[in-house]
Amino acid sequence: MKVLIVGSGGREHAIAWSVSKSPKVDKIYCAPGNAGIAELAECVDIGAMEFDRLADFAQEKGIDLTIIGMDDPLVGGIVDVFEAKGLRVFGPRKNAAVLEGSKAFSKDLMKKYNIPTAAYENFDDPKKALEYLRTEAKFPIVLKADGLALGKGVLICNNLQEAEDGVKEIMEDKKFGTAGNTMVIEEFMTGREVSVLSFVDGSTIRTMTSAQDHKRAQDGDQGLNTGGMGTFSPSPFYTDEVDEFCRKYVYQPTVDAMAAEGRPFKGIIFFGLMLTADGPKVLEYNARFGDPEAQVVLPRMKNDIVEVMEACIDGKLDQVDLQFEDNAAVCVVLASDGYPVKYEKEVPMYGFENFKDKEGYYCFHAGTKQKDGQIVTNGGRVLGITATGKDLKEARKNAYAATEWISFANKYMRHDIGKAIDEA
Ligand code: AMP
Repeated sequence: MKVLIVGSGGREHAIAWSVSKSPKVDKIYCAPGNAGIAELAECVDIGAMEFDRLADFAQEKGIDLTIIGMDDPLVGGIVDVFEAKGLRVFGPRKNAAVLEGSKAFSKDLMKKYNIPTAAYENFDDPKKALEYLRTEAKFPIVLKADGLALGKGVLICNNLQEAEDGVKEIMEDKKFGTAGNTMVIEEFMTGREVSVLSFVDGSTIRTMTSAQDHKRAQDGDQGLNTGGMGTFSPSPFYTDEVDEFCRKYVYQPTVDAMAAEGRPFKGIIFFGLMLTADGPKVLEYNARFGDPEAQVVLPRMKNDIVEVMEACIDGKLDQVDLQFEDNAAVCVVLASDGYPVKYEKEVPMYGFENFKDKEGYYCFHAGTKQKDGQIVTNGGRVLGITATGKDLKEARKNAYAATEWISFANKYMRHDIGKAIDEA
């Protein structure tokens, strides 16, 4: 088989690595890819939003399966473009990717189908939002831009002043562009956060092992929100009891709700859960693998990813027994100092050879590229260093040891990824 992967981050590197293990696959392409992916795949210089060019490329090369890693092309309808040309593609159509593309849609869906989530109101008029905040809101409160905002469109406001500033930022100044045309105002919840990824074929859902990420830039969950500074899997807080509850009230009900709405979902659903005192509640849905969650979940998966994805496309996921290693994995993100605000790029990087033939150690590239025969940094999040171990403590020890194998001048990382493990 020939497989095309669309995307360029650590998640796509982890997907490419997983695809490369499939005995069915002879050749992998990635558009646009990065310096690490280039070791497994032929990288093609076509952007993820250039749907027609990508589909033409897939037709020309006789691609048997295209995997969409990123949210923007999915929400923009890339799957519909591929399907219209008779191409096999893994991911939800536009009318199903709205599960991630519109928070107002997903909140209304959860309300209609009794899926547990925080209480909320949707607003498309800033005046009405302000009136609600002044008269009815309890603080802290959460403001969310409706559309995609690189994970940054969520503001937690401690008082009315902060909330008023937030409405201005999202709805009037349009800090997140049209994503802020509509806004969700949501009850603030407290509890541990857990991520559960799943494969879905339109009606059957198979959940993967749990993971937990660290969104803030600095140790102790301080600093700005980022795309994710590290993650570990499984989460010790995701107990059998939580799993049982979510199977009954969250996972299958979400898949059934989408089908009932005439929006059957095929692809990955990522459930962002908060384990509150009143039980698990859905924080958000994503319509693709998490980044960096993919970097800890995929190295633990025993199945052939291509077989599982094909079963999703063909509506045969009920025949798949999804299995994970009885181990643990930790991923520490190496970033450029200054991320997520301002940072230097094109900094030379060294030490990749240290990962060669080291079983259980992975160096997933996120923001890297080749320049004059040298790998240099090309983004805020640069690498995801993942290691497995017999348990979380060992995996964390291994992952942090491996972070030392790579050097670059402005290397930055959090030192407390997986610290919650000690509290479990
Ligand atoms: P989201 O993109 O909706 O997952 O929001 C990003 C992050 O904001 C989450 O991972 C939480 O840490 C936080 N968050 C979102 N919604 C809430 C909420 N209702 N209560 C408390 N924290 C929240």
